[in-house]
Amino acid sequence: MTRRIEIVEVGPRDGLQNEKTLLSVEEKLDFVRRLEGAGVRRIEAVSFVNPKRVPQMAGAEEVMAGLPHQAGRSRIGLVLNRRGWERAVAARCDEANLVLTCSDTFGIRNQGASRAEQIAALAPIAADAGPGKPSLSVTIAVAFGCPFEGEVPDSAVAEIAEACAAGGVAEIALADTIGVGDPWKVRRLVRLVRRAAPAAKLRLHFHDTRNTGLANAAAAVDEGADILDASVGGIGGCPFAPAATGNIATEDLVYMLARGGFETGLDIAALVDTAEWIGAKLGRPHPSALSRAGVFPKAA
Ligand code: ZN
Repeated sequence: MTRRIEIVEVGPRDGLQNEKTLLSVEEKLDFVRRLEGAGVRRIEAVSFVNPKRVPQMAGAEEVMAGLPHQAGRSRIGLVLNRRGWERAVAARCDEANLVLTCSDTFGIRNQGASRAEQIAALAPIAADAGPGKPSLSVTIAVAFGCPFEGEVPDSAVAEIAEACAAGGVAEIALADTIGVGDPWKVRRLVRLVRRAAPAAKLRLHFHDTRNTGLANAAAAVDEGADILDASVGGIGGCPFAPAATGNIATEDLVYMLARGGFETGLDIAALVDTAEWIGAKLGRPHPSALSRAGVFPKAA
């Protein structure tokens, strides 16, 4: 049987969040609908952060109001704390993705809470998730390195993963937030999280900041991870590396996986069209390689 790899599209959140151009609610909805038209089943549609701090993510409630529940689709809201979780519940997200950071400095700058404070906030949120509320996944941010503190000790990653296991979190994402990871570290951290949280599904989140994104994705798949984040066109960037490119590009990842015989359920041609569309909206060419080079072999 063909192995299926699930791709979570994060363009409307991680992509747009790091772009200068602000899109209207209607444009964001158009973006989500185009991606779902390309076969995306899980999508990070919004972020419940303070719009004064992150103006790109303003209008989260309005975007969610334009996305009524649909069987087989999950619209995810990113949350940083209890306040964000309550907004995700009120906005009727299918899923909330809580970000917990491995480093204190990143946590205090990103969400005003130390690592220990964030871990303490997890249990009550996890207890509140369930029927009639969004399901909960956790992203372990800056797991591969921190822009302020440098190398991140394995113990910091393990501690968050253990807290997730204790809270019954069904899915954990390991995030290379600033794009400093390498395939060998990917393998090591995947094994470490499996030991710390054996029941949780694993998702990996890579940025292509230093050109290691797809190699990291391949290593994760080889290590048995079945879920990967990507953003169409590779849009976005990194707030801590001004010249950086964004997430790994969805169409590049789908192409690589298709060549390897994996199934994703996504339509490459529709993704390429959507990448062109969002690139035009953002007023800059997107960095995806597949869109420039074309698919091989050519579609019949
Ligand atoms: Zn990211």
